[in-house]
Amino acid sequence: TQSLSERDPDLFGAITNELGRQRDEIELIASENIVSAAVMEAQGSVLTNKYAEGYPGRRYYGGCQYVDVAENLAIDRAKELFGCEFANVQPNSGSQANQGAFQAMIKPGDTILGMNLASGGHLTHGAAPNQSGKWFNAVQYGVRKQDNLIDYDEVQALATEHQPKLIIAGGSAIPRQIDFAKFREIADSVGAYLMVDMAHFAGLVAASEHPSPFPYADVATTTTHKTLRGPRGGMILTNNPDLAKKINSAIFPGIQGGPLMHVIAGKAAAFGEALKPEFKEYQKQVRANAVALADELMKGGLDIVTGGTDTHVMLVDLRPKKVTGNIVDKALGRAHITTNKNGIPFDPEKPTVTSGIRLGTPAGTTRGFGEEEFREIARLIVEVVDGLAANGEEGNAEVEAAVRGKVAALCGRFPLYPNL
Ligand code: PLP
Repeated sequence: TQSLSERDPDLFGAITNELGRQRDEIELIASENIVSAAVMEAQGSVLTNKYAEGYPGRRYYGGCQYVDVAENLAIDRAKELFGCEFANVQPNSGSQANQGAFQAMIKPGDTILGMNLASGGHLTHGAAPNQSGKWFNAVQYGVRKQDNLIDYDEVQALATEHQPKLIIAGGSAIPRQIDFAKFREIADSVGAYLMVDMAHFAGLVAASEHPSPFPYADVATTTTHKTLRGPRGGMILTNNPDLAKKINSAIFPGIQGGPLMHVIAGKAAAFGEALKPEFKEYQKQVRANAVALADELMKGGLDIVTGGTDTHVMLVDLRPKKVTGNIVDKALGRAHITTNKNGIPFDPEKPTVTSGIRLGTPAGTTRGFGEEEFREIARLIVEVVDGLAANGEEGNAEVEAAVRGKVAALCGRFPLYPNL
């Protein structure tokens, strides 16, 4: 009956400090968002106590009548959001959604074709240290040197040469829309499945602010915690009934045991929010804010890979200021602006150094920042970067302290979780 603060002050302290960090700092990590209190309430519910191996109506445990309701709500809402016939909402993460989709479509040793990490692909798309790169014969495509856009001619040539069973479109640092029809054409030319990993832009798709992977993809996978603004987790979608069965078996008993029913309840809550008209307005603002942020950063003398963004995410090329991602990431952190260093295509620096940072607008937009605020944020970033350019790795402490003050003022105007 005791509260966490009484029972475990150390842990309570960590959580309270994290709430403070989220309240007081500007979050620009493109893969993060800020869930509603309702999503947290669902996720923090008694559903965490329940074992429910299997699927609604077909469980291996008793007492599943109420968690069945929650899972069916999540499934029905997901199908409505993405206009598809089937959803598996059980994957514990985006990585497990991809692993499950692979198990449904291909076998170890088969050839897969995905985007390389250096061009913005995800680890699970065939990178060497990931299981996808170890268990499959992974061939990787990239972007074109002249414009940093996906090289569809290269994708076609690699597909023709290697005859993959599965082609993967999508990634973690792709600022421009992907041509799903073109990928379908390439997949058809070699008889491959097409999987779209829409983890990053799923929220935009749900709000019709980005083209849908359907009808082109055989399977779409996603995380639920990025632009989609749900709890951490994954999901697999398809319109193919044969694949639907295989996907269910791949997730359970294939790679997972008891589903995280409290997280599935959080997904249901988030998908319910995403079906509301406000969510469309939110995603429109996410994109408008990204355009404003990119534009103002370019005015400040930074380069944006591909010259801008169609989505929520952008890659900043820091080379015009002669600084690297690792030191900029740290300096912005000192100024209470959270980002991540990120390689840019054809990056001359090591992955631990990088020439870029990746920025996204989903979290700030949830907080209420509009274009004006994102333009101010861009100017603050440029101030910090210029401090580094002038003073080396140490940066300019005075500038960083001044920016920290302006960040505090901005965050103060847009309070986060006022009722917590
Ligand atoms: N796919 C893409 C495109 C991603 O960006 C990510 C997350 O970074 C994932 C999959 C993996 O998701 P998770 O971190 O939930 O395993």
